[in-house]
Amino acid sequence: MAQADVLVLGAGMVGVSTALHLRRRGLSVVLMDRRGPGEETSFGNAGVIEGSALFPVSFPRDVGVLVRHALKLAPQSNYRLGALPGLVPWLLAYFQASGDAGLAASARDLRPLMARARAEHRIFADAAGADGLLNPTGWVKIYRSEADYASAEPERLLARELNVACEELDPQGVLKLEPHLRPDFVRGSFWPECDNCSDPGGLVKAYADLFVREGGILLKGDARSLKRTGGRWRVDSDAGPVSGERAVLCLGPWSMDLFGRFGLKLPFAVKRGYHVHLAPEPGVTLSRAVVDRAGGFCLQWTKYGVRATTGIEFAGRDDPPDRRQADLVVPLARRLLPLGAVRESEPWLGRRPAFPDSKPVVGAAPRQPGLFLNFGHSHWGFTLGPVTGLLLAQMMTGEAPFTDPAPYAAGRFG
Ligand SMILES: Cc1cc2nc3c(=O)[nH]c(=O)nc-3n(C[C@H](O)[C@H](O)[C@H](O)COP(=O)(O)OP(=O)(O)OC[C@H]3O[C@@H](n4cnc5c(N)ncnc54)[C@H](O)[C@@H]3O)c2cc1C
Repeated sequence: MAQADVLVLGAGMVGVSTALHLRRRGLSVVLMDRRGPGEETSFGNAGVIEGSALFPVSFPRDVGVLVRHALKLAPQSNYRLGALPGLVPWLLAYFQASGDAGLAASARDLRPLMARARAEHRIFADAAGADGLLNPTGWVKIYRSEADYASAEPERLLARELNVACEELDPQGVLKLEPHLRPDFVRGSFWPECDNCSDPGGLVKAYADLFVREGGILLKGDARSLKRTGGRWRVDSDAGPVSGERAVLCLGPWSMDLFGRFGLKLPFAVKRGYHVHLAPEPGVTLSRAVVDRAGGFCLQWTKYGVRATTGIEFAGRDDPPDRRQADLVVPLARRLLPLGAVRESEPWLGRRPAFPDSKPVVGAAPRQPGLFLNFGHSHWGFTLGPVTGLLLAQMMTGEAPFTDPAPYAAGRFG
């Protein structure tokens, strides 16, 4: 049977990055996925590599806003009624973590990861020859009302305290950055510490190619075959069984298919989201991600067209898609930027793997010798893959971790 030091299961941004960091520390590493690298959640995201993210996306607490969401009048969210009973415990925990104190605590805990995320991407992107996919132009948030702008003040205050660059802009300031936007907003803010990726799936594939060039082994197979036998972890790949001294679960939204089997009780759910691509009108360009808070969408320039990504849909991971949110967002996107036809007949559906406190789990699995976890990156897994991969690789090889890993331990859930 083929043997490796480590089996990394799942080849999204998180798994590929984890595998590459472990390989760069001299370990023999097998990376296994049932598809090609970067073809699931890491393919269809908004391509924002954030150095400046602070408050996690939260559960609304204002009654008026809650009612709008409940009545499905807010484009930011949608839900599938039949899925709600099963989601109640998770939603309550998410609601609890969405208070001012909880959001500030998560923001502070995530800060060491966010602060290093771009630099870790740069190291991989340069080595992979993929730096052309990254555009260091920051991102812009637009506000359609003064009230909306005022509600984001706590975030700007925290940015000042933590030295995260943020420029407050009037509409003219926004148009200087993005001259093709229609000035249908009253204010904006510019967050310069971010890279924009024109091909998120392509970036993961470039990192996976680098992993293979550096001696890693990439296999296809079903991670649900994972078992522990004879003191080692074993999976069945298309090339036959492989065993590893250690195994790492990096299955993003599909991590829930495995961790329960190994006795782990974790409050895990998915926040679904969609994208569509729109053809820009002739001469129209966009240099960076633009987030419309009230519209609940983000626009990003990609090789497929202008990608409009939606907010959150609460539904079962495998429930059928519901195009409602994408359909709401398209006219709003056209109101903001001159855009033509939608390029696909059905929106792409993705699933953000999420814990209620919006932090990933990174570290050893409790009570399972040799099993490690790196998943649950929520809205920021594309950003955080390389930096959480680094942290886990440091923990697994006895290197001093660059930051205290305690906030990301699975044990925080008891
Ligand atoms: C609409 C949307 C917009 C987003 N925008 C951003 C953004 O701008 N910036 C950002 O940082 N993040 C963003 N995110 C979040 C980000 O995309 C995710 O957090 C991230 O992609 C998760 O990466 P992952 O590697 O954990 O999961 P995935 O990319 O889903 O990888 C998991 C892998 O596991 C494999 N797998 C699953 N089951 C099995 C099995 N049984 N056997 C073998 N392999 C299996 C899958 O094939 C897949 O390749 C967005 C998400 C969505 C949905």
